[in-house]
Amino acid sequence: MNILETLGERTVLFDGGLGSVLIARGLPTGVGPERWNLERPEEVLEVHRAYFEAGADVVQTNTFGCNLVKLESEGLGDQEEQINAAGADLAVGIRPRDRFVSGDMGPTGKLLKPYGELDPSAAQDAYARQALMLLGGGVDFLAVETLFQLAEAEAALRGIRQVSDGPVLVSLTFERKKRGFFTIMGETPLQAAEALGQLGVDILGANCTLTGDDMVALAEEFRGVTSLPLVMQPNAGQPQIPDDGGPPVYQCDRGEYLANMVRMADTGINGLGGCCGTGPDLIAALRQRLNQR
Ligand SMILES: [Zn+2]
Repeated sequence: MNILETLGERTVLFDGGLGSVLIARGLPTGVGPERWNLERPEEVLEVHRAYFEAGADVVQTNTFGCNLVKLESEGLGDQEEQINAAGADLAVGIRPRDRFVSGDMGPTGKLLKPYGELDPSAAQDAYARQALMLLGGGVDFLAVETLFQLAEAEAALRGIRQVSDGPVLVSLTFERKKRGFFTIMGETPLQAAEALGQLGVDILGANCTLTGDDMVALAEEFRGVTSLPLVMQPNAGQPQIPDDGGPPVYQCDRGEYLANMVRMADTGINGLGGCCGTGPDLIAALRQRLNQR
């Protein structure tokens, strides 16, 4: 079964945070996690393995910051091919039978014209290139995530469609305002579902920023505006920055987190996973809860 058939059949469990887990394993804050695909591959491998062992159906590659625009801003533009190939290989190489690896694609980090400097066609190009490299590395589908501008999500999807007809998840990040849920550029779930639906997205989702009741309410709103499969990946609470300036600490009540995840599964959300602050323990606990449903 491919990922779309599986999402239609049962609640699919995605993995949890990667960057925050690598920071806990010694990745210095401010250093892009993707560097470790080449410098400390054994650490990345261990995290992927831990998520598969926790029972995740989907493990996401460590390639969030690996589109050419983002890599160039990190001074890694000349390693685009190696870093994406290594990222795909690390997850695909240990993928058990009947599980999936998604090729993870994050934001360019730049605002698109007319709000910023980045030409949408340059963004589209960067995503097309990354998609080709990840698919060449054997990932089962592509997952664009944590995007906060609908225009960038559209550029990503257009770029991917230049090189592939395979399944694509696009997951945006929303904030809760008094009047509802919006991306930081002011777009609603309905606008996202319409625009991305027209471009042929297969799976929609929301991740990061939100947690708890807010994510449940967003899931309900999203379910009301699209019949596409939906994947929700909330953070484990809001980050607290420690006094010593160390990495952010995420605190959440595990029982509450799990209860909210089950509520989302019960309201017709097709895929669930974690984002910042979640780790293999929480995903293992979620696996148990989903199995008991
Ligand atoms: Zn996150």
